[in-house]
Amino acid sequence: MEKIIKKFLNEVNNRNQNEPEFMQAVSEVAETVIPYIVNNDIYYGQNILMRMVEPERVLSFRVAWIDDQEEIQVNRGYRIEMNSAIGPYKGGLRFHPSVNLSILKFLAFEQIFKNSLTTLPMGGGKGGSDFNPKGRSDTEVMRFCQSFMTELFRHIGPNRDIPAGDIGVGSREIGYLFGQYKRLKNEFTGVLTGKGVSWGGSLIRPEATGYGVVYFANQMLKNASKSIKNKSVIISGSGNVAQYAAEKCINLGAKVLTLSDSSGFIFDPDGINIEKLHYIMELKNIKRLRISEYVKKFSKATFYKNKTPWSMKCDIALPCATQNELNEIDAKVLIKNGCFCVSEGANMPSTNNAINLFVKNKILYAPGKASNAGGVAVSGLEMAQNSLRYNWSREEVDERLQSIMKSIHESCLEYGKEKNYTNYVKGANIAGFVKVADAMLAQGVV
Ligand code: NDP
Repeated sequence: MEKIIKKFLNEVNNRNQNEPEFMQAVSEVAETVIPYIVNNDIYYGQNILMRMVEPERVLSFRVAWIDDQEEIQVNRGYRIEMNSAIGPYKGGLRFHPSVNLSILKFLAFEQIFKNSLTTLPMGGGKGGSDFNPKGRSDTEVMRFCQSFMTELFRHIGPNRDIPAGDIGVGSREIGYLFGQYKRLKNEFTGVLTGKGVSWGGSLIRPEATGYGVVYFANQMLKNASKSIKNKSVIISGSGNVAQYAAEKCINLGAKVLTLSDSSGFIFDPDGINIEKLHYIMELKNIKRLRISEYVKKFSKATFYKNKTPWSMKCDIALPCATQNELNEIDAKVLIKNGCFCVSEGANMPSTNNAINLFVKNKILYAPGKASNAGGVAVSGLEMAQNSLRYNWSREEVDERLQSIMKSIHESCLEYGKEKNYTNYVKGANIAGFVKVADAMLAQGVV
């Protein structure tokens, strides 16, 4: 089996040189899915995984715009249309200076499996730009978004490709992007998700990824006869996903000890309560300041500069910042300190060596493609509401979100059961694969 996997990965690597993040995501899937393919006649010999790792379409374009000093800036825009076997392409847009083809292809590839797990009809895609919104004025962000959409609009549509937010793309950016699309097409359609509630957005969409991460952790804990109540939780990030993961933990009676950003993390021994979290939300979302400001207001807290929070003792860890933020050494420290549950809010935050350690030590470990699927799931619900021209209540959307997270957990159990352990990596990969592979086989070689 090892030989078959190695041969496959060599072939993919030869075709995708210098794309380490993409290769990392493909390896993680290949390790669990290839053995399943080899043992299942309907998939064997169909070159099905090779077809899945090849994007259906890769778009790359120039985004020129003028900054506040009247200097001309040039960025690069992308959209990866990875797989449309079970529905139109769906996945976020990321604006961050680190954005490149490798990062977007890994995200688009993971999105295929994640979207399949939600049970909703959505294919996989991802896009973005190396534009950095940090430190830019609102007008600069608007001009950039308008220029970006002036090219992207011809490739997307409510039945073709429906982008959403991701790192650096929140409600402000979705607003500017939607405004420009509507102006260019002269159409008011559900072409983007994460819209404001008064103009086609869904209630609970901002909360959905973070809430979903905690709902999934809760399912894993329940299955192991444990509960989140009174547990200590460390969270990385302080953006959209981290904020609402923290909110849900607090509401369920857990103690949240840390949050972070790219400059370091804060540790509050008393726990971050709802009032303190609202201060952080204002700090990050409105004032757009750094997390270190927290310790000026709450003096018992400590700021650890340029550090990640994984050295702090906890029961549960929720990585909610970015890819590869938790390595093998961090995993060792977490396990040594008694952490027994890791539910990923970010995409691919744990390195493959860290994942192997979690699995080996029978940690309740949920890969992002399962545990952070709540965001895209509610995006799917936003699309449904747009088609119906109707809005569901907060309770209705939250109930559907909880039921989708539960059903993703059940799919993981179905395909990931091992002796005395549920391997959620294997479960998520195979369950996500089966639905897409069946659709691809039915649709012929295209
Ligand atoms: P935001 O832009 O709202 O927040 C990102 C957070 O992560 C910020 O605190 C940011 O710090 C931190 N961060 C970003 N890059 C780095 C880095 N290189 N090192 C350390 N910290 C970093 O993004 P989201 O919360 O939306 O996204 C977070 C993660 O969740 C991403 O992996 C994303 O792909 C994933 N995700 C998001 C979904 C969504 O619905 N938004 C859905 C599913 C997954 P700083 O402010 O200093 O940059």
